[in-house]
Amino acid sequence: MSTQDKHDAVIIGAGMSGLAAGIRLAGFGQRVVVLERHTLWGGLNSFYKRAGRRFDVGLHALTNFVGPRTPGAPLTRVLRALRLRHADLGLRPQRVSRIRFPGVALSFCNDFGLLQQEVDERFPDQRDGFARLAGDLSLPADAASPRAFEGARTVLREYLSDPLLVDMLLLPICFYGSAREDDVDWYQFNILFQSLFVEGFARPAGGIKPLLDLLLERLDATGGELRLGCGVERVLLDAGRVRGVLLEDGSVLSTDLVLSSAGHPETMELCGPTAVADHVDEGDLGRLAFTESIHVLDRKPVELGHDAAVTFFNHAERFRWRCPQELIDPTSGVICCPDNYVGESETGEGLLRLTTLANHDRWAALGPQAYSRAKGECTERALDVAHRFAFDPRPHEVYRDTFSPTTVRRYTGRRGGAVYGSPRKRLDGRTPFDGLNLIGTDQGLLGIVGALLSGITIANRHALSPA
Ligand SMILES: Cc1cc2nc3c(=O)[nH]c(=O)nc-3n(C[C@H](O)[C@H](O)[C@H](O)COP(=O)(O)OP(=O)(O)OC[C@H]3O[C@@H](n4cnc5c(N)ncnc54)[C@H](O)[C@@H]3O)c2cc1C
Repeated sequence: MSTQDKHDAVIIGAGMSGLAAGIRLAGFGQRVVVLERHTLWGGLNSFYKRAGRRFDVGLHALTNFVGPRTPGAPLTRVLRALRLRHADLGLRPQRVSRIRFPGVALSFCNDFGLLQQEVDERFPDQRDGFARLAGDLSLPADAASPRAFEGARTVLREYLSDPLLVDMLLLPICFYGSAREDDVDWYQFNILFQSLFVEGFARPAGGIKPLLDLLLERLDATGGELRLGCGVERVLLDAGRVRGVLLEDGSVLSTDLVLSSAGHPETMELCGPTAVADHVDEGDLGRLAFTESIHVLDRKPVELGHDAAVTFFNHAERFRWRCPQELIDPTSGVICCPDNYVGESETGEGLLRLTTLANHDRWAALGPQAYSRAKGECTERALDVAHRFAFDPRPHEVYRDTFSPTTVRRYTGRRGGAVYGSPRKRLDGRTPFDGLNLIGTDQGLLGIVGALLSGITIANRHALSPA
């Protein structure tokens, strides 16, 4: 083992939260290194090349869209902390998105008035309750409130008496950020309601890669270091305090501060079997995973009569948000058409992405042949339902790719391919060990803007003004 000079901070993972934390700390002159096991950066929001095309791994929408210098908004805070300009992101706003259930749809856009109007028209008896809900949710989410971790379904009943409207509001919120089966924590509902319905959606010009390149440039410019293909094997502890990390190549980096975006259970695994036995239980393990199919089309979705950027659909009587018994649950899902953002090219190939809930363990149990057969069959089953809420991409498909929960596990190390990580969030970022803090998904801020903000917030709290 060779020991190198001491770092002020070591960051595990070059996803959104890790890159943001690295830029923030390096910007304050700290000696910081971001370690990423994979050869690409971006984590859950990365990119790859197939059949001569570049694909985003997970990008549907950058949520939390606001215009330049909107005071107090999460996007404004992220840009300021990372010293980026709004214009650098080249954000293209959505025109419209929809929540579609059998026989009823709610449209929304980046003007909250549209959703209010739609609720008024489709659910006239819920108008007052919805207005009261929107009013109460306009206050910042208070994670210290006694109701913060109550299920949103229970709290929503105090505002809305129609279970259909409750299901319709929960569907986008669960798909874009609930790690909790059948529900979402009330504080998280509050945050996501703001970021999806009040602020809204945009797409960075050119997809996720230009945004990731920008983050890399900032990290470099501030003097931070990124090491790709550099997995952390163990967090080194001494009497409950962090002393460094052991890398998969056998070398050691010495530090008193580690910020980990690997997830709570995964980070405890890096601390050794005793940490897992003492600090991880069933309640920490996320079970919500996705499959996503990506369909390249010979034309734009709008040419097929589909104008929504994102369509959240449910085909069953009630919306179910749980790990399915089968490989997938095609009864609900998300259809994203990246071409339907303002300013995207109106000619050439089009793209449709289709996301459904999936059972990681069922996918992981398949042998190679059964796995590739299952990908084909499940995609067909999902499309058979989804096309009723958008259009059928199959007659226009020129290329298709599908990923499963095992793909997510392989590329991010997340147990069970759990996209939103552990249902038990650690909002203060603390772990049982001094100098080891969580950032990103398991700290509790999700999505692109959420994860960036998480990296910044925890870096500020534990590295720039340690308690
Ligand atoms: C299909 C899909 C679609 C999505 N769509 C959107 C969207 O449209 N809009 C949106 O806002 N959000 C979306 N998200 C969610 C968003 O991607 C995540 O919330 C966010 O990127 C999480 O960032 P993170 O930094 O917390 O974690 P991650 O992105 O998971 O990053 C963690 C990183 O740590 C690395 N790592 C783990 N263990 C180690 C180790 N031991 N050593 C070194 N490195 C390690 C991993 O390889 C990974 O790169 C989507 C996610 C998925 C899966």
